[in-house]
Amino acid sequence: MASEPTASECVIHGIRELWTGSEVLGDAAVHLVGGRVAWVGRSSSAPSAPSSYDAAGAIGMPGLVDPHTHTTFAGSRARDFERRIAGESYTAILEAGGGIHSTVAATRAASEDELVALTRARLAAMLARGVTTVEIKSGYGLTAEDEAKMLRAARRAAGPTDVVTTFLGAHARPPGADDYVDRVVTEQLARCAPLADGIDVYCDRGAFTLAEAERVLRAGKALGLDLRIHAEQVAYTGAAAMAASLGALSADHLERLDAAGIAAMAAAGTVAVLLPGAMLYLRDPSPPVAALRAAGVPMAIGTDFNPGSSPVTDLWTCATLACLLMGLTVHEALAGITVHAARALGRPDRGWLGPGALGDLALFDPPPGEPAEVRVLVQYLGGHRARAVWKGGRRVI
Ligand SMILES: [Zn+2]
Repeated sequence: MASEPTASECVIHGIRELWTGSEVLGDAAVHLVGGRVAWVGRSSSAPSAPSSYDAAGAIGMPGLVDPHTHTTFAGSRARDFERRIAGESYTAILEAGGGIHSTVAATRAASEDELVALTRARLAAMLARGVTTVEIKSGYGLTAEDEAKMLRAARRAAGPTDVVTTFLGAHARPPGADDYVDRVVTEQLARCAPLADGIDVYCDRGAFTLAEAERVLRAGKALGLDLRIHAEQVAYTGAAAMAASLGALSADHLERLDAAGIAAMAAAGTVAVLLPGAMLYLRDPSPPVAALRAAGVPMAIGTDFNPGSSPVTDLWTCATLACLLMGLTVHEALAGITVHAARALGRPDRGWLGPGALGDLALFDPPPGEPAEVRVLVQYLGGHRARAVWKGGRRVI
């Protein structure tokens, strides 16, 4: 990745339209000092600085935040995809040696260095699209040793991208492991808590029960981890309301969320993380976006990047899918991949541009023939390569 020595102070001016996290600002400039944003306003009234960058009419965004991914894994599920679109059931694919257990086997077989290299390559693809903060879960190890290996690899892959790690030992139950939840909350958690910022659990039909999920989250909370949950995706379980009552930062998926879950999330300030990639690949119904909006629940958008149900690394693609498949507005989609995604990760210092925010900024050219308007990047389906990216005030692309 090309980079320049740290310029401790720089003005980026001539931004045709800038999404600040809450509004679109025309003819904008951003003043970066010491890794943070010192000032945002009109180019014509920008302060002078020792170094400057002419955005020449580009579109500006805060560094994007992907709040839900499974980026650290080995192996391929391309064969599963072919079987699934040919009409085979997930159960039949599992029995043929595919599905999540094949990713677990490949991830266990990979060395930590191999996982670091794979994760770095994927993070580089995301950074090229302006994504500067990425959450990465474990969950393909399912032993204390292998879960810890995943989390170490995810953390080692950070830089220039910030990585937020989440322990997800309760992602799948290894066949025959009746005492598996005991192992998650004892040996796995003891090994993984020092390597993780948060804890997550897959609470659903065919996964972990509501009581098991609560036990996992309470154990993580006792160790000071942030709480997240895979909730209400396949069947309604009450997981979102339970997690909200424990103070979860986010409840994710939510295709089957009900009114009680929405009310609990609104009361607790829990962010709804929407994952339209998985919705598309699994042909699920939409989460209740109108009801979430009416209740004032902040909505974030993640890629859910994983090799099975959401093989997509492009957060811009997911922003557009959230509009098309779920009914978000363009501004909701922009907030979903910036300020609300940062809130879902407990990182309120990013995802917006204003005095005090982290100096994470990405510039984009519009597609040929299109105006340099932020909404064009949501209208066109993905593939937007950033012209320039600053991370913590340092230019990294
Ligand atoms: Zn997920």
